[in-house]
Amino acid sequence: MQGLMMSAPLLISSLITHADRHHGETEIVSRRVEGDIHRYTWHDCHRRARQLGNALLAMDIQTSERVATLAWNGYRHLETYFAVSGIGSVLHTVNPRLFPEQIAWIVNHADDQLLLFDLTFFPIIETIAPLCPNVRAWIAYCDRDRLPSGDKVANLMCYEDLLARASDALIWPEMEETAASSLCYTSGTTGNPKGVLYSHRSTVLHSFASGMPDALCLSARDSVLPVVPMFHVNAWGLPYSSAMVGAKMVMPGPGLDGKSLFELFENERVTISAGVPTVWLGLLNYVRQNGLKFSTMRRTVIGGSACPPAMLKTFQDDYGVQVLHAWGMTEMSPIGTCGVLKAKHEGLSSEERQAVQSKQGRAIYGVDIKIVDEKGDELPWDGVAFGDVLVRGPWVVSGYFRGDGGDPLRAGWFPTGDVATIDADGFLHITDRSKDVIKSGGEWIGSIDLENIAMSHPAVAMAAVIAVRHPKWDERPLLVVVKKPDVAVSREELLKHFEGRIAKWWMPDDVAFVDSIPLGATGKMLKNKLREQFKDYVLPTAA
Ligand code: AMP
Repeated sequence: MQGLMMSAPLLISSLITHADRHHGETEIVSRRVEGDIHRYTWHDCHRRARQLGNALLAMDIQTSERVATLAWNGYRHLETYFAVSGIGSVLHTVNPRLFPEQIAWIVNHADDQLLLFDLTFFPIIETIAPLCPNVRAWIAYCDRDRLPSGDKVANLMCYEDLLARASDALIWPEMEETAASSLCYTSGTTGNPKGVLYSHRSTVLHSFASGMPDALCLSARDSVLPVVPMFHVNAWGLPYSSAMVGAKMVMPGPGLDGKSLFELFENERVTISAGVPTVWLGLLNYVRQNGLKFSTMRRTVIGGSACPPAMLKTFQDDYGVQVLHAWGMTEMSPIGTCGVLKAKHEGLSSEERQAVQSKQGRAIYGVDIKIVDEKGDELPWDGVAFGDVLVRGPWVVSGYFRGDGGDPLRAGWFPTGDVATIDADGFLHITDRSKDVIKSGGEWIGSIDLENIAMSHPAVAMAAVIAVRHPKWDERPLLVVVKKPDVAVSREELLKHFEGRIAKWWMPDDVAFVDSIPLGATGKMLKNKLREQFKDYVLPTAA
């Protein structure tokens, strides 16, 4: 017997429609490339999204055709999110921090028909336009008087002109909820990037789950500032989940330095933010140096790479900002786990609670998770056994765009490429990417724990631990450190800092001081580059 409930498709257009109808006056505030602060509301956003929808239809954009963006977090980008998916075409957010050749490759692979961009990225557009013959028009997010001139880009159009000519009378079409809605490429540190194609259904379900109290706990009373870019897995779904709950959105545009962010946090009474650990380093430095406090910010989501416990402690103990340590990936829309405590943790000391929060957290409803050994056998949830993390669920990838890389699944589960333990309470603790694990004498050493210890030393600004060849043990850990300016610290002092905190055989064999650690397009440390840089390094223990 079938249930007798309506079967309404879960569509992205329903999110903006809801935000407009129930939270129409709630603000969206953006720092623009033009330098000023722009303000409007969910109502305005919906109106302009409908205008853009009509403009795209007038340009003959068909169902499932890809429309790309190369843009910061801002209101025009937000309108594009809802307009492109709303009319049934596919939003492809491109990461401008990639090399132009990689961008051109991705745009061609996706067969993007249009590309909308912020003026900051015009030099990239000038480089890639001749390489992307299938792009029908390049649309600059600006008014006519700011439209750049130049003959390298054929069919350059002005976004505001396009909107001004378009009617806002549009009823979002009904479609299957499983239809493709957006496309995001993995960072592709090895080989070509692969496209992850989200659906309306996966996006709406991810929004439901990620907004729940034991996930990001979003509500109409929040003012949400995604530092995580809208080109990094849809800013972790925040544009959609914020629309779903009717939260205020604060978009930082190109202003990602500590000063610009802090200004927005305070002026716009931001309650929750989200970003990778490297951006928080800059903000915390700024706040510390200037003796500032956050007056409204209560929570911050940290993910994308491991949140160092020292950072978690600083946010919570010094600034009263609760850290939500989250884990996920492009292939998971992206959220899989959130480090939110259970009732049994309430009585713990602040230090003990922080130890639990430093783990990547427990699975949110909808994500099924397990760890397996090399043979694929499931490992116990005892917080000790570690193995490959496998996931499944309605917002987990089932295959890559155009079938690239073949079938990624293992008996219905997606292998994440991460290595972790899971404890009896279901808290996942990522020890490494499987590619970054240090294999010493047949045993594995996880680099993340070692990096976290290094980061807790007051002289360390950034730390990476990588495998270096060793004649006896195959690989041994090398600690690569960027020191804080004007602080002296020796190799011996740093190594001493590890004593008593780890098993002796996990101790790094040496310390290398560097000026900087290479970061990838989403702000993560590029360990493959570091390994390349140190490939001929001779450890003192190797002699
Ligand atoms: P991306 O698809 O570029 O977002 O990268 C996903 C990968 O980032 C994951 O597979 C993890 O290796 C890493 N990652 C994400 N969040 C965390 C976290 N909280 N702790 C450790 N690693 C993380």
